[in-house]
Amino acid sequence: MFVLSLPFMVNAADGQNVAHEKRQRVVVLDPGHGGSRPGKAVGKIYEKTLNLDVALEVKSQLAKKMPGLVVYLTRSCDSMYDANRDVDNRMRAEFANRKGADLTIGIHANAHENTAARGSEVWILSLNDKVLNYNKQKANRFADEGDYIDIENIDRSSMGFMLALARQLDNEPRNRNFARVLCNNFKTIGLHDRGVHDNVVWTLLYYLEGPGALVETGYMSNPEELKYLASDKGKKEVASAISDAIVYFIKGLDAAGEYASASVESSSAGQPVAEVSQSKATTDASGKGYTIQLISSQTKVNVNDSQFKSYRGRVMLVEGSGSWKYKYCYGSYATAEEAKRDLAEVRKSFKDAYVVRYEAGKLVK
Ligand SMILES: [Zn+2]
Repeated sequence: MFVLSLPFMVNAADGQNVAHEKRQRVVVLDPGHGGSRPGKAVGKIYEKTLNLDVALEVKSQLAKKMPGLVVYLTRSCDSMYDANRDVDNRMRAEFANRKGADLTIGIHANAHENTAARGSEVWILSLNDKVLNYNKQKANRFADEGDYIDIENIDRSSMGFMLALARQLDNEPRNRNFARVLCNNFKTIGLHDRGVHDNVVWTLLYYLEGPGALVETGYMSNPEELKYLASDKGKKEVASAISDAIVYFIKGLDAAGEYASASVESSSAGQPVAEVSQSKATTDASGKGYTIQLISSQTKVNVNDSQFKSYRGRVMLVEGSGSWKYKYCYGSYATAEEAKRDLAEVRKSFKDAYVVRYEAGKLVK
């Protein structure tokens, strides 16, 4: 009990963390990469440059849309904080924390070996099993070292990881609301919406004290999309989708006194929910037949993860090859024709879903 109150006492004593009702709202934009870490590159076009161009444009749009808002960039030229990627991203998060950011947005662009891949997506730190376990493991490891707490390095103690978890729990609904609004805005400007993703621990998002999200604006590996992303029109439109979402989010914080309202949650929950007969749902891929692939992932995902939408808990894992080898699928059908009958319904929730064949837990070409 004594231990738990300690960090809050420290904060209260110096008066720095006392809530100021009328303090200015702060947004931090983090153009990903920079310096010797260009991010993705296609020909002479570097992701670090696109990210910075978009961030600068977001900042200038916000100056008009919300003049009272204080906007910081983690970098405003071709620079980085540290050559080590994790250290670099952590320092960007710490920059945002020092500024007291009400919202932090990492700006990135995507690439994939399949040049047809396209669209924008928004990542948030979710409290799925992976993140919870990560926190738990860290907390346990440091707890093993004894009860001693080094107040100078509080974030490296078991206490630090428990505080991180408390913060993450607190921020999660706001992160998700922001991400949903932003995805909708991307859809409005004509980008293919790849949705909200939340099954990876990003260093930037993990260390943020306030709400945050990481944006992948589009695919540089897709020639058509790259042309758009690198154009003035594309940069302006992508920036306006982001700046509009920021304005919406900050207004929500103001309206709620402190925190974003939950109104977005209910509006996006109004999406059509797939009505597929429960009887076809199976989570066992040990047999053989046809199934509908919803998503593929580089890492294992909990079948109850919210990204499976109405198919939560009813997906099965089929293993393919390559780095995106974990295929999450719905249903089991004797023939491809039967599977195709359900495909249209599934595509209401997963636009890129398609029918695959499996046998004994593996994908069959
Ligand atoms: Zn990137």
